[in-house]
Amino acid sequence: NDFLKITDLHAEVAMSEPPKKILNGLTLSVPQGEVHAIMGPNGSGKSTLSYILAGREDYAVTGGSVLFKGQDLLALTPEERAASGVFLAFQAPVELPGVNNANFLRIAVNAVRRARGEAELDAVAFLKAVRAETKHLHMSDEMLKRNVNEGFSGGEKKRNEVLQMRMLRPSFAILDETDSGLDIDALRIVAEGVNSLRGPDFSALIITHHQRLLDYIKPDRVHVMAKGRILHSGDASVAVELEAKGYTRYLEGAA
Ligand code: ADP
Ligand code: MG
Ligand code: MG
Repeated sequence: NDFLKITDLHAEVAMSEPPKKILNGLTLSVPQGEVHAIMGPNGSGKSTLSYILAGREDYAVTGGSVLFKGQDLLALTPEERAASGVFLAFQAPVELPGVNNANFLRIAVNAVRRARGEAELDAVAFLKAVRAETKHLHMSDEMLKRNVNEGFSGGEKKRNEVLQMRMLRPSFAILDETDSGLDIDALRIVAEGVNSLRGPDFSALIITHHQRLLDYIKPDRVHVMAKGRILHSGDASVAVELEAKGYTRYLEGAA
């Protein structure tokens, strides 16, 4: 199953001088239909990995490969990645003052639909689809009229992120939930959003510090990351063990 296959990935910060190496031979596969988690201490390179998968330009890949559905993911533009089913959510979503949330979402949805060769949604069809989702998420429709993430509470931002994810129907979602001060309600919103999409055509990579989140999501597999590589992989019990014993034994094993 070659759904997402990251092999011996090496990457550095493009701008820093001398170049700063962040990923050091990272190897990781996510089969179709599975939800995996990456946990690791601060500074391991977890966010860098998600940025590279999304196509941010601040990083240079110096070795290795990323195959997504059999194609070279790193050769695709961020737009092409989105069109092929990749969705990236960030812990600190950007605020876009002056950009209406519903319009923004409609443009994003239609860009993906166009790229997939599907008919675009007109205003009426879009509103119908988005209202079904806001209802499902217990979100006020008023949030659609506001500017993207502007003045949103932490929970509202999470709901909006899940709304985007459900509207875009990705086949592979990357959620970086690392060091933000997520409360239990916010963790639940994210977990329910992921769980609601689970199925044979949905895979996800959940990057988190919070073992709590994984109580709700119950990942198929947990990968322990440190110093730019995966040191250990196992089932969901790895997260429970990390909570109890910390990262030390993995770090000692790697030294
Ligand atoms: P994590 O998400 O696991 O906490 P990050 O990917 O954010 O780790 O960062 C990994 C390392 O790379 C850290 O030491 C961080 O300071 C460094 N780093 C990340 N991005 C940059 C950048 N743009 N410029 C310089 N250093 C960076
Ligand atoms: Mg960090
Ligand atoms: Mg991070």
